[in-house]
Amino acid sequence: MPKLNTLDLVGDAQHVLVYGAPKTGKTELVGRLSKHFDLFWIDLENGSTTLTKLPLEQQMKVDLYRINDTPKKPVGIVSALKIFEGKTTLCEVHGKTNCALCKKANDQEKNPIYPIDIHNQTRDTIVVLDSLTQLSASALNHVLNLDGIENSSRAEVTFNHYGVSNILLTNLMTMIQNSRVHVVCISHETNVVHDDKSEKITPTLGTKNLSRGCAKYFDHVVLMEIKNKKHTGMSSSVATNNKIGGSRLDIDISMKDGLAPFFGIAPTVSKDKPALAAKPKVSSTTVTPSKPKLKFN
Ligand SMILES: [Zn+2]
Repeated sequence: MPKLNTLDLVGDAQHVLVYGAPKTGKTELVGRLSKHFDLFWIDLENGSTTLTKLPLEQQMKVDLYRINDTPKKPVGIVSALKIFEGKTTLCEVHGKTNCALCKKANDQEKNPIYPIDIHNQTRDTIVVLDSLTQLSASALNHVLNLDGIENSSRAEVTFNHYGVSNILLTNLMTMIQNSRVHVVCISHETNVVHDDKSEKITPTLGTKNLSRGCAKYFDHVVLMEIKNKKHTGMSSSVATNNKIGGSRLDIDISMKDGLAPFFGIAPTVSKDKPALAAKPKVSSTTVTPSKPKLKFN
């Protein structure tokens, strides 16, 4: 039997949620992790424009997988579930895993297919899922499409549709929570009344009912806000009663180090002497086949 201390448990894989209103710097904050880590970015939000502001050497560390998720073709939720399930392929044209059409085309120029195996990554890689908001829309649209309903604003949407869509999202959250890779999810904010009857700024996940419990799937939850015209991030030490945020490691994020301390990078000590500790290495010989690099034009 393997000894406990030799096992690569979920333990040190960190699962982080960054949320906030639009334009509060969420994508930028997460993108800056590329200073220390390879980012495996699953993009349903067209966030690549923001990422092109990163220094070139950091852009080279971002593998961008774009999934064009629309109400008529809500491929995002199914693809995300398959990607977290295990080894698969993702096509660029349709954003589908294991796409039969693109396989049949067998043309890597016109119908590129990329192998994906997120569970076979070292602690040098962080998987980014952008965003839970779009995945929430995708899940509902997927359920409606199965029922032959094309427009989610139509009156045929029932509690049952919301229920099934919430189950898909819950499955995804459980997979993320139990995954052995570092994961950062991005979401938007919504106001939800919690069990203590108070209304709190809360990360969006499916319905308000599901959103209420969204934070429990993560080790650290960061709310991005704009204060005094500056982007700021809030975690445990400045958390207030009307906002959801917190960290199991009780790390407060400053904009300087960003999210890096959550992943074992020592916080910068002084302005003159940045004391960055070496990342804990996990022995592995993972070689991932050619992946799409972040495109910049
Ligand atoms: Zn395809």
